[in-house]
Amino acid sequence: MAYIEVQHATREFRNGEQTTVANRDISFTVAQGAVVTILGPSGAGKSTLLNILGGMDSPTSGRVLIDGVDIAQFSAKQLTTYRRQAVGFVFQFYNLIPNLTARENVELASQITQDARNVDETLALVGLQDRAQNFPAQLSGGEQQRVAIARAVAKNPKLLLCDEPTGALDYQTGKQVLQVIQDAAKQTATTVIIVTHNSAIAQMGDLVIRINDAQIQSVTPNAHPTPLAD
Ligand code: ADP
Ligand code: ADP
Repeated sequence: MAYIEVQHATREFRNGEQTTVANRDISFTVAQGAVVTILGPSGAGKSTLLNILGGMDSPTSGRVLIDGVDIAQFSAKQLTTYRRQAVGFVFQFYNLIPNLTARENVELASQITQDARNVDETLALVGLQDRAQNFPAQLSGGEQQRVAIARAVAKNPKLLLCDEPTGALDYQTGKQVLQVIQDAAKQTATTVIIVTHNSAIAQMGDLVIRINDAQIQSVTPNAHPTPLAD
């Protein structure tokens, strides 16, 4: 069974007279454990779609089945529970708490859910066991993003959503961070969605969804996901 099934999802924003359609009649399915990349230019509707999948927003119409349950019908309270328990987030600018160590940042997240992963194992999963006592400002950009990945994975989420996770990193560091996301996902059977405007990054997905002008242009399974070149 598909883990994610989006059916005819549309999201309109109304501001007085003006209506913006940010997502128009979006449909696709994703198998559990897949790494999906969503590719499109700025303004295409990628963040809107990610927000809907992450329970930060709901479509105006359509269905968004996660593990068979339509989260488009969820109340605000149900969405909060879904977000806390089922979804891990990785952002472009890490969003770590500056006065907590790497370990404490991960610990805080793991306290949210009952079936949290072991904090030390999670730090080891992203290769940061030796940096656990460092504060974010003492870590490089790549290391901070690895802490953010550990924090997201510590919740043992069903779904890991990454919004331009390498957008603030140089090419080589970004490549390593994507590898860490991929490895962590495969080891934990987590379904991953990575939003990017970079077509080379998109090619590392098992499934590449192209979106432009609020609509899906193509959904392409990738039999041989390509790692980024050196
Ligand atoms: P992307 O992430 O691909 O850059 P977005 O999903 O952020 O695209 O935006 C898609 C379109 O929807 C844009 O035209 C944007 O201005 C509009 N939009 C997004 N969020 C809102 C909002 N809260 N209110 C009004 N318009 C919005
Ligand atoms: P990366 O390839 O992960 O971006 P860098 O080459 O930027 O790593 O950094 C190399 C080492 O220097 C890292 O181990 C990191 O901990 C350390 N480092 C980077 N920036 C800082 C900083 N602002 N303060 C302290 N240590 C830093």
